[in-house]
Amino acid sequence: MSIKDNIELIRHRIADACKRVGRNPSDIILMAVTKTISPDKIKEAIAEGIEVIGENRVQEIVQKYDAIGDKVKWHMIGHLQVNKVKYIIDKVELIHSLDSVKLAQEINKRAKSIGKKQNVLIEINIAGEETKFGIRPGELKKFIKELEIFDNLCVQGLMTVAPIVSEPEEARPYFKHMRQLYDELKEMKSPIVDARYLSMGMTADYVVAIEEGSNIVRIGTGIFGPRNYNKEED
Ligand SMILES: *Cc1c(COP(=O)(O)O)cnc(C)c1O
Repeated sequence: MSIKDNIELIRHRIADACKRVGRNPSDIILMAVTKTISPDKIKEAIAEGIEVIGENRVQEIVQKYDAIGDKVKWHMIGHLQVNKVKYIIDKVELIHSLDSVKLAQEINKRAKSIGKKQNVLIEINIAGEETKFGIRPGELKKFIKELEIFDNLCVQGLMTVAPIVSEPEEARPYFKHMRQLYDELKEMKSPIVDARYLSMGMTADYVVAIEEGSNIVRIGTGIFGPRNYNKEED
């Protein structure tokens, strides 16, 4: 199937999921995740109305930003190293992967230096997996408190990468838990919090994620097909 057909199908499924749970499809952001994907293919997706691009490597954001520019919004969705913040601070609308005070401090410093308030999501390791980044659910309140000294940071919500499961349905409890945390975040009334995004759901599980309250789904293979990792090393 073409990129166009894939996007159409995903939009249909998003609309169906919204109908089942009484949500408005226009409240859901369909992000195209473009790691390893060429600018030409990304432009095809943009021609189909994609407005948000997600990348998980700093180098790829920098290269593709050069080729595509700021007609779309760039989101950093992968683990971000402190020493690489400076390369993307002027390019990204939203960083989904804030997971430490050290990283927050650097983002704040770099944002301040260019007169920007940087929007971020806090990454949650919802299943406590050893292999995943993110803070534990129980640490959220304390973490928010620690961020309140940073004037050039705005916490706009939460992000998670759910565990890989054989059936999407098995991810539902994790998404439900994320929704609870998101509701708690909204009630915190912290000066640094302006909660509006719950970023969860990928190709394998976005329908369930939407049923449980996600409003940013991050889709890579569902739009572009399987990734060719050899190309990445060119
Ligand atoms: C790669 C990636 C995605 C998209 O994964 P697909 O299964 O290809 O849809 C979403 N979120 C993050 C953080 C990713 O790294």
